Amino acid sequence: MMFAAALLAAALSGGPITLVVDASQAPTQNIVRTHEVIPAKPGALTLYYPQWIPGEHSPAGPIQNLAELVITADGKRLQWHRDPANLFAFKLDVPQGASSITADFTYLGATFGNYSSNRLSTPNIFVIDWNQNVLYPSYGTNDDTQFDPTLILPGSDWKFATALYDAKRTGNTVTWSTTSLGRLLDSPLDACVNFRSWNIWSEQGSSPGTASLNVCADTPEELDATDKTIGHYRALVKEMIAMYGARHWRNYHFLLTLSDVMPGEGVEHHESSDDGEGGDYLIDSKALERGGDLLSHEFNHSWDGKYRMPDGLVRSNPNEPYDDSLLWVYEGMTQYYGDVMSYRDGIRDAKNWPDHIAAVYANYDNEQGRDWRSLGDTATSGPFLYGAPRGYYSERRGVDFYAEGELMWLLADAIIRDRTHGASSLDTFAREFFGQHDTGPVTVSYTRADVIAGLNKVAPYDWAAFFHRWVDDIAVHPPAGFEEDGWKLVYTDTPSHDVQKDNFVYSLGFTPGRGAAATVGDVHFGSPAWKAGLGIGERLIAVNGRDYSGDLLYDAVKEAQRSHKPIELLVEKDEMFRTISIPYYDGPRYPHLERVKGAADHLSEVVKPLRKE
Ligand SMILES: [Zn+2]
Repeated sequence: MMFAAALLAAALSGGPITLVVDASQAPTQNIVRTHEVIPAKPGALTLYYPQWIPGEHSPAGPIQNLAELVITADGKRLQWHRDPANLFAFKLDVPQGASSITADFTYLGATFGNYSSNRLSTPNIFVIDWNQNVLYPSYGTNDDTQFDPTLILPGSDWKFATALYDAKRTGNTVTWSTTSLGRLLDSPLDACVNFRSWNIWSEQGSSPGTASLNVCADTPEELDATDKTIGHYRALVKEMIAMYGARHWRNYHFLLTLSDVMPGEGVEHHESSDDGEGGDYLIDSKALERGGDLLSHEFNHSWDGKYRMPDGLVRSNPNEPYDDSLLWVYEGMTQYYGDVMSYRDGIRDAKNWPDHIAAVYANYDNEQGRDWRSLGDTATSGPFLYGAPRGYYSERRGVDFYAEGELMWLLADAIIRDRTHGASSLDTFAREFFGQHDTGPVTVSYTRADVIAGLNKVAPYDWAAFFHRWVDDIAVHPPAGFEEDGWKLVYTDTPSHDVQKDNFVYSLGFTPGRGAAATVGDVHFGSPAWKAGLGIGERLIAVNGRDYSGDLLYDAVKEAQRSHKPIELLVEKDEMFRTISIPYYDGPRYPHLERVKGAADHLSEVVKPLRKE
């Protein structure tokens, strides 16, 4: 049926769209030019610029950056006008006798917002997200709009990686086989001068496949990863396959940019992920540990997100709005497995896992916004929370369905372990719900009821009530699965692996930025700093009469506990100075998990490797 429909659409539209994306000026002038030849019939036609971007969960298509749009038929320029009710739609009339139109436009690589619109190029790297460089006609869908893509590289020394099929390179020009709109948008491309690729997994036999780590860096030194570092990623692929038991990709491409200029990134795709980290990521073990869940998170989405997708995200084209209300599964469980896998693959040390959970729990437990907004509402509000300001974050709440979602799935794991006496865990559900059997990159949708039914198959429980409590209702505290797992939360005056010394959220109630002229990023309503009148955007100049530093403030908090004298902060905003006095005497506070004596330790079980070497 699908093939018949596709053939019909192709016949109606007159074959694939020619798409030529010229990136030769990307590294120098930060622009990309697009030329399209679109088969068309006389009459009214609408061209769409993709608005709802897969993996970004929001209407983040960078329409601001589309410029120089010229549309012609038979060499004559056609007038177009933007639909005032849909700003991503361009309306025009195809004249009698025309069998195609051409569309030319320029993508201005101006940076704004999140994700792909804040990264295009550095002198030695560029990233192509095809949604930025394509218009598609109104008669098409993700499946039946076909493109013959071509990319023009800046020079012969440029290399590239992408999950698009059948690349053929002649000089600086690369072509791929005919590709559907959905697949095109799902297959970003990294290109660069300093390139290295590692094959990290392969399988022959009935279900052959490979996984490769493709790295683009600003400088050659940033590519000097050790075998040990690459070994973690080899382990990652094995761990994922050991847990899921099946895969939905044939040749998976990790596309990783390493740059101190280009912002970081993490966007998932079926057979690739668009990842970005700092220049020292693969050569500094601390940087690798800090971003240790990036590749595992995005890789996990190939199963949870791309193969199994909430029905509210399955759309026939990129201009149909999303319903993000199940992102606590899509992102929440991926946040959980992204972190869990970073311990199982060895990038992170399992001994720090309890501190990680303590940090996540304490963060959300101290978020006042949970008194008015449910976790479920943060998911539904995703389209505007992704771009929300950081100021008063704790009162607004952010995209909490990621990390508070992680806590909820940790509790679900504890319940499954308990009810099956250790025979099953959340891994069992993951395998049955997201693994299933080997397929290519296809999508199977699910509903909330399907998730509940799937969990009940693994461990009978009132999962409907569980999600009502933790997703729909106002929950005063976040889920504390670590308690079922034999641990308890305590606050001490010792910073932890995951909560550094200069984090004063759990004592004074605010977060300063880093550095000498630290700016207050958030003040928690009701905290000692709040009651003393501290506001966001104020710069911390001095503490008790001395030049501000995080260490000095830590010492001052300790001293106040002993002396019972208020802490004096000199702050500046808009060239106005004032002194704030905080009467806080409870000393420094940092969250940790402690073992409960006599209780079995299930928390450590969660991060034990599954693979057999
Ligand atoms: Zn994600």
